[in-house]
Amino acid sequence: MTQNSLGESAVQKAVQSQQVNNGVLASATQTQPLWLLAEITYRCPLHCAFCYNPTDYDKHTQNELSTEQWIQTLRDARRLGAIQLGISGGEPLLRDDIEDIVIEAKKLGYYSNLITSGVGLTEKRIQAFKEGGLDHIQLSMHDITEEINNFITNTKTFELKKKVAAMIKNHGYPMVLNVVIHRYNIGHMKEILEMAEALGADYIELANTQYYGWSLVNRSQLMPTKEQVEEAERIANAHRANTNSKMKIFFVVPDYFAERPKKCMNGWGEVFMIVTANGDVLPCHSARVLPNMKFPNVKDSDLGWTWKDSPAFNQYRGDAWMKEPCRSCSEKANDLGGCRCQSFLLTGDAEAADPVCTKSPHRHLIDQAIEDAKNPQLQAQPIVFRNDKNSKKIIEGEFQERLTEFHALP
Ligand code: SF4
Ligand code: SF4
Repeated sequence: MTQNSLGESAVQKAVQSQQVNNGVLASATQTQPLWLLAEITYRCPLHCAFCYNPTDYDKHTQNELSTEQWIQTLRDARRLGAIQLGISGGEPLLRDDIEDIVIEAKKLGYYSNLITSGVGLTEKRIQAFKEGGLDHIQLSMHDITEEINNFITNTKTFELKKKVAAMIKNHGYPMVLNVVIHRYNIGHMKEILEMAEALGADYIELANTQYYGWSLVNRSQLMPTKEQVEEAERIANAHRANTNSKMKIFFVVPDYFAERPKKCMNGWGEVFMIVTANGDVLPCHSARVLPNMKFPNVKDSDLGWTWKDSPAFNQYRGDAWMKEPCRSCSEKANDLGGCRCQSFLLTGDAEAADPVCTKSPHRHLIDQAIEDAKNPQLQAQPIVFRNDKNSKKIIEGEFQERLTEFHALP
């Protein structure tokens, strides 16, 4: 699962595609799960240092939903108004039933998007996806150099990704690239854009790392400086302005360097529904990090009840849960207090204002993280790559200092 593939642009696309789709529902409202993300497996052949998957994903690799359970979930979500389907992971292509899921998605009228590292995409499979009605493929790329690609993913996948990009183009799909930006590749922004042009990309999402899951564990190693982020954005803007290219560039500004938080997932339980590999239904990818929450599972809960009435989906819907400074803030409708998971991960309080906000009493934690990213001693700590062994270690309680040092002192 690449980062930021569910950004605001995706919401806009979901709403647009609802307008052109032969949808079940005639109009978008604020409380329909327009976007269904199927995190179909947590298994992945890559080991990205910034992976968005939960650090304890190894718990969920043995009890994946069956094909029938996924198909039923697609049907149930469609009845609730879902129109945009993301098929993600892990690496979804590790499952051999994606073709069946694509066919069902087409029948139900979804706009479907396969979010892939490219590993496992063969001529035979892409042909089947095309015939089955898959609308869109988003491919993750990592750098222009083989060295950084192979380092950050801990695999030798550089040449393969270029071949897969060509295959996607040859089959008439729009070429949509996602590049997660971090300290190791941020200096290559111009070259990354040139590479995307050379590959014939129609769209490139430059997704600055957001710090959840594995990327939070590796934050000091991955975070660039503010100056580097500003320079990267300048290069992206200049490329947009100065070339005749039709390639659309979406630069996702990292929230640590902003003064206000993002409206996370466009609001808790507003438009996004995520079903994880084992069937848990979440309002955002990271929600299971929150304490004292029980998320319904498609195996034993009705999806309509889950979305509309379950305590988990209502816990942070709207703004009634807020405490100060958000409660009386004139800007609360803009960001709904930011991200609950980020608040909990960094302050230990899920109802605190997102510490990214300069009005938050915890903003110093973000400023400290920015400082820490310049500390050579912290930078030199080894990266904890996303793999089964490290996930097992985390489940068993290792790397505690990396997982708890983010909390604010009482
Ligand atoms: S390891 Fe990399 S490719 Fe695999 S799910 Fe994580 S970010 Fe995606
Ligand atoms: S105080 Fe809360 S609601 Fe106001 S801008 Fe900051 S995070 Fe948003």
